Amino acid sequence: MADNKFVYIFGNNDTEGKNSMKDLLGGKGANLAEMSNLGIPVPVGFTITTEVCTLYLKNGQYPLGLEEHIDNAIKQLESTTKKNFGDLKNPLLLSVRSGARVSMPGMMDTVLNLGLNDDSVVGLATKTGNERFAYDSYRRFLTMFANVVLDIDHDKFESALSSKKKDKCVKQDNDLEVEDLKELVEKFKTIIKDETGKEFPQNAREQLQMAIDAVFSSWNNQRAKTYRKLNGIPREWGTAVNVQSMVYGNMGETSGTGVAFTRDPATGEKRFFGEYLINAQGEDVVAGIRTPQPIKTLKNTMPKVYDQLVDIYMKLEDHFKEMQDIEFTIEKGKLFMLQTRTGKRTAAAAIKIATEMVEEGLIDKDTALLRVEPEQIDRLLHPNIDPTSTYEVMATGLPASPGAAVGEVVFTAEHAEEMAKNGEKTILVRAETSPEDIGGMNAAEGILTVRGGMTSHAAVVARGMGKPCVAGCGEITIDIKEKIFNVGDYTIKEGDMISIDGSTGNVILGEVELILPGVTDELETILKWADEVRTLKVRTNADTPHDAEVARDFGAEGIGLCRTEHMFFGEDRIPAVREMIMAEDIESRKIALKKLLPMQREDFIGIFKAMEGFPVTIRLLDPPLHEFLPVHEEVMEKLRELESSDASQEEMERVKKIGERIEYLKEINPMLGHRGCRLGITYPEIYEMQAQAIIEAACELSKDGMKIVPEIMIPLVSHVKELEFVKKHVTTVVESVMEEMGIKLDYLLGTMIELPRAVLTADQIAKEAEFFSFGTNDLTQTTFGFSRDDAGKFLPFYLESGILEDDPFAVLDQDGVGQLVKIGIEKGRSTRPDIKIGICGEHGGEPKSIKFGHNVGLNYVSCSPFRVPIARLAAAHAVLENKQ
Ligand code: PEP
Ligand code: MG
Repeated sequence: MADNKFVYIFGNNDTEGKNSMKDLLGGKGANLAEMSNLGIPVPVGFTITTEVCTLYLKNGQYPLGLEEHIDNAIKQLESTTKKNFGDLKNPLLLSVRSGARVSMPGMMDTVLNLGLNDDSVVGLATKTGNERFAYDSYRRFLTMFANVVLDIDHDKFESALSSKKKDKCVKQDNDLEVEDLKELVEKFKTIIKDETGKEFPQNAREQLQMAIDAVFSSWNNQRAKTYRKLNGIPREWGTAVNVQSMVYGNMGETSGTGVAFTRDPATGEKRFFGEYLINAQGEDVVAGIRTPQPIKTLKNTMPKVYDQLVDIYMKLEDHFKEMQDIEFTIEKGKLFMLQTRTGKRTAAAAIKIATEMVEEGLIDKDTALLRVEPEQIDRLLHPNIDPTSTYEVMATGLPASPGAAVGEVVFTAEHAEEMAKNGEKTILVRAETSPEDIGGMNAAEGILTVRGGMTSHAAVVARGMGKPCVAGCGEITIDIKEKIFNVGDYTIKEGDMISIDGSTGNVILGEVELILPGVTDELETILKWADEVRTLKVRTNADTPHDAEVARDFGAEGIGLCRTEHMFFGEDRIPAVREMIMAEDIESRKIALKKLLPMQREDFIGIFKAMEGFPVTIRLLDPPLHEFLPVHEEVMEKLRELESSDASQEEMERVKKIGERIEYLKEINPMLGHRGCRLGITYPEIYEMQAQAIIEAACELSKDGMKIVPEIMIPLVSHVKELEFVKKHVTTVVESVMEEMGIKLDYLLGTMIELPRAVLTADQIAKEAEFFSFGTNDLTQTTFGFSRDDAGKFLPFYLESGILEDDPFAVLDQDGVGQLVKIGIEKGRSTRPDIKIGICGEHGGEPKSIKFGHNVGLNYVSCSPFRVPIARLAAAHAVLENKQ
């Protein structure tokens, strides 16, 4: 331990700490010392260091000499304040507060007026000539001490206070008279005796020791532990204790207490923002007992104090170069600062403050970028629930696609589409969604599913559309026949209003108020600065020209994944797609594919145009085929109907065949079945048609002078020979189309790396592939052996019990899947050093995963359009954090 110094004084000429000593003094202690160094009035006090906490919790006892250090510090406080601790005539009273390096809700917070007892309260009354004040302070002290030190329920004191107010027919605490307060003090002491079996401790030094013990012990209470775990705060940090001489905001009409921010924490506007209460102590403002007044009215009531406060807040902001959240007390017209810390703020405020502080010359651009969290941007791009509204949460699922939505419950995609035609807003509630639901998902305001994880169909598609989605809400049971869903004690009917919050996973009863923050100039500025810093490119996952345009507007530098299977579900193509699947021989399959060819060509023309000048990675078909056919039960139902009607034999045969084909194609485990390049190998003509459509589209546009950069991507490759096989077919088509059209176009042919075998043989695969794109959704699925679609049943438990810290389908598992990514990159570059490598799984839009991607040397990430701005900022953070 550093020269056995356990205690640091602040608030007088002997101040020993400073702002840079946060690790030792905690945030509160370090900043109190710093204010004192700046000449700002701070009540004198001392900080017991975090090292003491760590030793106390480790050894079960305090380090030798601590008691003496505390006694010496108290002497200093006594000499500065000219009051004596434990004195009966002129008592020094103290506040005791915890203070970790970062503010930590859940720990013991504050005890005020410590040092009072049955005798000193009389002394305080005589000395101040204010008996009411003395007993008001004593009853407050008893309540706080009992609650935070002795762990007695606060309600016991609150209800005694309320019944006293009721007896006296008064509303406010302030309206109680001295005699009432005296009675309350007696009552409170009795509660303490009843609850603890011991008298309330009258000795001031004993009170102080008990409060210090309570602060240190609270570092390890359950609430604090949970908070630390959630926020990645190490247990070893410990907390400091701040002991400070009391100043009184409850000494009459020229006293008061308040909290303020140096800028508006909601909007970021540069104005002094805050509130205060006259004749009150700190906890009254927070507890909302009386309605505080806006800070600007202080200008009229106490102009001098107001001016001084303004000077101080400006000085603090200038000094810390950051928006401050301050606490102050006025004692008989004299101002004291009790705390200053970095103020919490909304996303909009964070961006405004960061950009304006650069303009004001307070901070540089890099600092500004680091002051905005990438995830905060998400809040600015979607409607959100008005934070001032109250609502009833019925259940919570996965926060699968951010933003909030309100609408009437519908249970089918068709219903959502019908309602949308009439201008009605809906929430589509499904057990899970399938590609057939796309139209309805697009028509609904939001999507709620019972099953499926963060990479389920619903989640992926909703994110792509920028639609709010709560997925995998297993508490819900849908009764599709009755057109209801049940959750807990609620039964929700079709047509009932509900709201969902895709940022939190909440499913809410009824309609909530939404707010839509727009993309501001300040956000544009931050993103522009981010672009100047980052080296990682950001592309988008988009399958329609519209999504591509949205993403381009958000700054996407190309498409990293165009899932062509999403194009096969358009109403106009389903008949041809079904014909292709039903085909019994290659000839009839080719006839069906011929019908699809012009439609695909148009699709690609649209997408290439929207991304002109940027690379567009088009992935060849990758779903299980049966997904394109109707549901088996529906077909069987149809067959029964036909049988009982006078339908022709031919028609019945046709429907029967569809049923048989569905049965044939059905797989036990479709996620590991006949999908990806396995389809392109068994039916090469499908990939040939797609390659033809891609290259015809690209050649046609480049004939018109456009710069088109196509990249053809083969999915689910595990063996280099699979790639060789498909590549041969694809390149033959590509070459012949180019020759026919008389154009030589640069294009790339590459592969997804989404299976462990592909990673482990990436050196061989790179010989055939000109680029790699890590499909981290499938790579996570196959590395963990967790089904993407079924993990929702157990993953929540894994997260709750701490087996996993994050959902690996949302945040890349760096230790496991991340290792595979690293190996894949190394092996790939060992045979093709300049191979272009990206990520196009959902992790491509998640900040921690993006930073990982930067650090392992990816060239780009690709994410859904609405996450492009987040990815741009996260990529810049990756560079800046490495510099630090
Ligand atoms: C992946 O597996 O990460 C991927 C992008 O492909 P998909 O989600 O379409 O399987
Ligand atoms: Mg995949």
